[in-house]
Amino acid sequence: MPVANEGVLTLTVGMKVSPDGSAGVELLKAYRSALNHAINKILSLNLRTVKDVHRALYRELVERFNLPSRVAIDCYRDALANVKAWRRNPRKGRRPVVKKLSMLLHQGSGYRVKDGYVEIIGGVKLRIIGWDRRYDSYPSGEARLTYRDGSMMLWISKRIPKPETYTPRDVIGVDVNEEKIVYGDEVINEEKDTKISRAEKFRVLAELLQKKYSSPRYQAWKRRRGILNRIRAFHRKARNILVDNARKVAHEIIATAKRLGYAVAREDLTGLKESLRRLPKTHRTRLLLIGYSRIERWIDWQASKHGVPRVVVDARNTSNECPKCDYIGLEEVGYRRLRCPRCGFEADRDEIGKLNVRKRALRILSITGGALTPPTAPQMTDVTPNRWGEPRSRPKGGNPRPLGRGGGQKLYVGTI
Ligand SMILES: [Zn+2]
Repeated sequence: MPVANEGVLTLTVGMKVSPDGSAGVELLKAYRSALNHAINKILSLNLRTVKDVHRALYRELVERFNLPSRVAIDCYRDALANVKAWRRNPRKGRRPVVKKLSMLLHQGSGYRVKDGYVEIIGGVKLRIIGWDRRYDSYPSGEARLTYRDGSMMLWISKRIPKPETYTPRDVIGVDVNEEKIVYGDEVINEEKDTKISRAEKFRVLAELLQKKYSSPRYQAWKRRRGILNRIRAFHRKARNILVDNARKVAHEIIATAKRLGYAVAREDLTGLKESLRRLPKTHRTRLLLIGYSRIERWIDWQASKHGVPRVVVDARNTSNECPKCDYIGLEEVGYRRLRCPRCGFEADRDEIGKLNVRKRALRILSITGGALTPPTAPQMTDVTPNRWGEPRSRPKGGNPRPLGRGGGQKLYVGTI
């Protein structure tokens, strides 16, 4: 998963390589054995520093596990990083065991990319089959060589400068619920499926298969490789559906914001995720957690990558606060329609959240009125037209703000 830091973005570029007979896979397997051995030893001896770890493990990794000397160093560093992550985890269980075939490599000393080959220093040379060339001009950092489902990849981290952002003239609000990701402003309204239900079907399939082959005393499915693989494939499918969807929708949202010169605003879903974690771990709660986390991370990442300003707003009451007058306690007035008993504002349930997220972000950014609304804006029938665009006589929390450019088409410019 990409990360955005001050001024720099770190992303990972995949390079497909040929496994080169079995040498590459053998090296990865030796690395995995060495890594698990190192993790155990670091924990048993309670080692904390690279220096101590080097002293305790370097020679052993080279001599007993046959690792090239540079690979041995990367291996114990990898082990120490695994241990540190495990020590930090408040819910840690048994000692960590690495099952994946994945090898850490440092640029320059651990691997080299040259003349169509990836060379693992002191180890193997792997032919490059294909890669994403868009980031070739940026310097490479550490990498990971992985092997899964017959495919060998080198994942190289790249540091690229963050693009400049702009001063937003309005905000695209994003509201995420179980079924939908809704985004837009008071004119734009896009609704996308979260795909939670679709992902859940694959989880259910996995469970049915698991039940079919298990009895309380003899879990047959664990012994039959074919069945186990099918169960795993269903779980992976469920996860991939959510991850791919989050990436796609986040990209659409950010592209829309960038095209219009808007910022993007999302809710802070931390509280929601915490409450989900306290619920019984059903398929649905697990999938919701994945779904919510991924959409947050992809929105943040795409915003950084494309220089779109991003705001995170408080998620409390976004679904029952009036986007126009801030009254909390909207009333249901029909199928999925809510109305404000104080000011008469009425909208679809799914749009309320989005409008509140946008409203809060506009306040944070001190944008008054937002962008000029296109003339095709839907007319509000239950608001007196001559009140539109007027400043509210009693604005919430402070001095009256000057009016924006909105005028007649604005729906709730006065409250902002
Ligand atoms: Zn209201």
